[in-house]
Amino acid sequence: MSGARALVLESPKNLQLREFPIPEIGDDDAVLRVEACGLCGTDYEQWLGHLGDWGGGMPIVPGHEIMGFIERIGATAAKRWRVREGDRVAVEPIIPCGHCADCIAGEYTRCQSDLGYGLYQNIHSAPSLWGGYASHVYLHPKTMVHKLPTNVATDLMTLVNPLSNAIRWVYEVGGAALGKTVVIAGPGQRGLLAAVAARRAGASQIIVTGTASDRGRLDLALQLGATAVVDVDKEDPVERVVDITGGRLADVVLDVSAGSMAPIIQGVDMVKRGGRIVLAGLKANKPLDGFPIDKAVLREIQLVGVLSAGWESTELAIDIIQHAGEALRPLCTHSFGMDRGTEAVRTLGREVTDGRDAIHITLTPE
Ligand SMILES: [Zn+2]
Ligand SMILES: [Zn+2]
Repeated sequence: MSGARALVLESPKNLQLREFPIPEIGDDDAVLRVEACGLCGTDYEQWLGHLGDWGGGMPIVPGHEIMGFIERIGATAAKRWRVREGDRVAVEPIIPCGHCADCIAGEYTRCQSDLGYGLYQNIHSAPSLWGGYASHVYLHPKTMVHKLPTNVATDLMTLVNPLSNAIRWVYEVGGAALGKTVVIAGPGQRGLLAAVAARRAGASQIIVTGTASDRGRLDLALQLGATAVVDVDKEDPVERVVDITGGRLADVVLDVSAGSMAPIIQGVDMVKRGGRIVLAGLKANKPLDGFPIDKAVLREIQLVGVLSAGWESTELAIDIIQHAGEALRPLCTHSFGMDRGTEAVRTLGREVTDGRDAIHITLTPE
């Protein structure tokens, strides 16, 4: 067998194609042949060098939204993961240690060991292949692996990771359910998928907000299950929420906007007493001025930060994609081969455009 190829982020904005030996495996680990890797905002931040000391640093093989086929697997791993060679799987980004306080408490996605794919171990950590921008990925014994259906197209299947996030944020943490009212600020891939998840969960009002430049995405939100959209450049989103809900306000506001503070401040006036504001959009390390603390106290508003997903939300995401995947097709806007890795990341960061709105981007080894 010839070697593995991988894109290595050597320094900020510098991705280089390199070759590595295919890792040797033992009884309890495996090698994945990558089918595709999804990209999200974190990939762009990593490429820019903004993640700093967080994670493994450079040089690193990026890519944490990985799916592919089990190429080789040890007997114990096969038994533990309930998969065999040739099976199509999705790989969770976090590798839980199983022994830290968070793992013991059952919150393994907060594992303190900081082991995982694409963002954690760099190439100096053997066997180097820890990211999805590659033909092969080494699968550590403690990896969380989900078996995937074989009859779903590659680009749709890579929605597993962002959809699992959306499910956890809006449904598991946000509490979107039958009859609930949900406001989603930011119609990026996670915001749009949160609208899908809220709809599947039975929410009766799903209001997605965006700016004038998000027009196409707001239309897509309506197509995917939103009951109303608000262009915040034209309308006051708080007034619209009051209006749409007849003054009853929202049960939950999910902020997935990048860099904007307004949805968090406005969220306090959009949610009911005791309502919840779920924070998932990063703000480039900027603090928030002007937050109405007294109002939040007096109305018992909850603020919760969320980062990733977990086993159950990933399984739910697989199920939704398998049964309703075709409806999600408009989200899959771009796919690039590994030789165009830089173009993929720059398209994600809206540095280059081919005229189409980039929403979900995938990288494939071919
Ligand atoms: Zn991601
Ligand atoms: Zn742990």
